[in-house]
Amino acid sequence: MFNIILFGPPGSGKGTQSENLIAKYNLKHLSTGDLLRSEIAAGTPLGVEAKKLMDAGQLVPDEVVVGMISSALDANPQVNGFLFDGFPRTTAQAEALDKLLKLKGTEIGVVLALEVSDEELVKRLLNRGLTSGRSDDTNENVIRNRIVEYKNKTAIVADYYKPFDKVKNIKGEGTLDEIFALLSKEIDLRLSAN
Ligand code: AMP
Repeated sequence: MFNIILFGPPGSGKGTQSENLIAKYNLKHLSTGDLLRSEIAAGTPLGVEAKKLMDAGQLVPDEVVVGMISSALDANPQVNGFLFDGFPRTTAQAEALDKLLKLKGTEIGVVLALEVSDEELVKRLLNRGLTSGRSDDTNENVIRNRIVEYKNKTAIVADYYKPFDKVKNIKGEGTLDEIFALLSKEIDLRLSAN
């Protein structure tokens, strides 16, 4: 199995690039944001609670997202690998993920960290808000809160993986094809070294 974390702030292109990467490398896409939005759409108690935090641009509790990821790993035993998108977002989540993967005899192969400037992120998210139907994409204050949460709690997650030489920074500004080529090149390098 080869497992990838697509890392980066909100609006850095994780969702878009994930779609292309899972098709090319035949991976299972696990986006905690998408899983949470499914819970909201289904009107579950978890979804109702999560929506309040998501609408404020805050992270939902670690136990909630770790529980969802644990179920998703169990539900997909026969895959080539997982592409984690929007997870882990805290060091506690990264530690929990390591344990879950270890139980399955696997680990994270590479962390691809997309880098995009704050002003470009705000511009992209407001633009996405015109069509995404996501309430957290329409309000600039909520968008800025999400970026602050990223800086305060998520950016350090890259440090967690650095000692294992697993993090590769990728310039997340350019055309979709250019960024996809950079991501693919790094994955191919790691796969051939495996
Ligand atoms: P995303 O779709 O990844 O931009 O996530 C949208 C929102 O869902 C975030 O702003 C958080 O409120 C919540 N969320 C998604 N993934 C996580 C996570 N791994 N940990 C905590 N909250 C999350």
